[in-house]
Amino acid sequence: KEELNIIQGALELRTKTVEDVLTPLSDCYMLSSDAVLDFCTMSDVMQSGFTRIPVYENERSNIVDILFVKDLAFVDPDDCTPLKTITQFYNHPMHCVFSDTKLDVMLEEFKRGKSHLAVVQRVNSEGEGDPFYEVMGIVTLEDVIEEIIKSE
Ligand code: ATP
Ligand code: ATP
Repeated sequence: KEELNIIQGALELRTKTVEDVLTPLSDCYMLSSDAVLDFCTMSDVMQSGFTRIPVYENERSNIVDILFVKDLAFVDPDDCTPLKTITQFYNHPMHCVFSDTKLDVMLEEFKRGKSHLAVVQRVNSEGEGDPFYEVMGIVTLEDVIEEIIKSE
């Protein structure tokens, strides 16, 4: 029974897309790029429990960086370090994927790359103006694995 579910889940990786499993932007725990790493912000980050935190500029749909919680190891909250200082120092590459990426392809990319989080975009051509890239949310390796081992 359990094995069958897992096989079923694995087979579905070929048809399901990252859009089916992503965490929507509205649910993402993020920081503004002009945040200051004071005690308040740092304890908020720790309490969020997340390891990777998208950093946005001006609006939440404009993700410009990823902060890893381990980047904070040498940050003293009393120094009130600007978040930008840290993100510029580590400068982790940001991985973007389109929302129609199949989960088997996504899994391969996660295995190949170093980061286990990707920002999910789509092309929005609904309005009057020119089509533009729209950020829909984030997807992590865990979201793909969960799709395989979920039991129904
Ligand atoms: P890790 O398990 O590697 O320590 P984590 O617990 O921070 O990392 P994941 O295990 O990769 O996160 O993901 C768990 C779930 O949380 C997934 O559904 C993922 O989409 C979601 N998630 C990851 N980071 C964030 C974030 N910053 N804000 C909101 N949801 C997130
Ligand atoms: P994350 O990706 O969430 O930042 P991480 O890079 O520390 O975490 P994992 O991605 O969980 O570690 O594991 C990567 C590989 O490193 C795995 O093969 C794991 O067994 C190994 N590993 C993890 N922690 C240690 C450790 N303390 N010493 C040796 N190997 C480790």
